[in-house]
Amino acid sequence: MSLQKMLEYQKIDSKIYRLEKEYNELEEKKEFNKYQGYYKEKAKSVIIGQKEFENIVEKLNGLLVKAKELNVNKFDLSIESNNAFENEEDFDNYEKKLKKYQTELNAINETSNELQKKLSDLSQSNKQILNKLRQSQELASKFFGVIQQKKKKMQEQAKPEILKRDAIKAEIDEDIFKIYEERRNHHIFPVFMPYNEPNCGACGIDVKAEISEKFNSQTFVECPHCRRLLYKI
Ligand SMILES: [Zn+2]
Repeated sequence: MSLQKMLEYQKIDSKIYRLEKEYNELEEKKEFNKYQGYYKEKAKSVIIGQKEFENIVEKLNGLLVKAKELNVNKFDLSIESNNAFENEEDFDNYEKKLKKYQTELNAINETSNELQKKLSDLSQSNKQILNKLRQSQELASKFFGVIQQKKKKMQEQAKPEILKRDAIKAEIDEDIFKIYEERRNHHIFPVFMPYNEPNCGACGIDVKAEISEKFNSQTFVECPHCRRLLYKI
């Protein structure tokens, strides 16, 4: 009978399932995911930092252009071009120009200092981020190595059981097997459980009213609460 073979299959498969579960729940996997996530997060900050950096450099270049323009106009302030103050008004104008020049120069200096300070802060924080990035990358790869080793070990342990299990696969009804695989993939395991009338053998809920009639036409019936497939002993 196919269900019998299915149960036999499940019994061997449960050993494999346990090994897979142990592997999937490895602490190292959680650690690996943590550091990998951290790495991705920090990598984003580096990109943001890079954009900020470019932004500041662009502003500094703008200042440089302004400073050059100011320098060109400086000629107007030289004594040579202002040596003939015809009257007091001329002198007033000269003074105004000089003041304007100084104000603009001061503003450029001030902004330039601010930007350079920002650049230096940014470079400092980028250094820290890159450091953390490197640390999380190292940790992630360390855990990855451990995971790979444990995976290999798990596969070695599971191999003889897989061979045993797969040897009887051909004797199982395809439709039943499909249902089994679908539930197993969703971690509803063991898939087949005995029906301890009136209770589900897996979740323990009294399901008699819901399923007992179905047993008249089916060998196994799904528990409406835990989705396991119940069979009568
Ligand atoms: Zn149940």
